[in-house]
Amino acid sequence: MHIKNERRCLVCKQNFQKKDLLRIVKYLDDISIDDTNKKNGRGVYLCNNKECISKCIQKKYLNKSFSCAVPDSVYEALRCKIE
Ligand SMILES: [Zn+2]
Repeated sequence: MHIKNERRCLVCKQNFQKKDLLRIVKYLDDISIDDTNKKNGRGVYLCNNKECISKCIQKKYLNKSFSCAVPDSVYEALRCKIE
């Protein structure tokens, strides 16, 4: 069954409600965490929990998702979410 506003976490590949996920957005060359859910650009989603966030940081999942070198500052910002 398709539930509205579901998105897939890029780490665990499970579907969740958008509101339970962190959105990370690439717009032009700028990559940032979208706390407002309103930023322009291409977004990927990530569970807002320690497990998926730390895996994402360790394995640099965002580099793969965005096919580019994601700045450490983005991973740092993610790390702040779980500390
Ligand atoms: Zn996840």
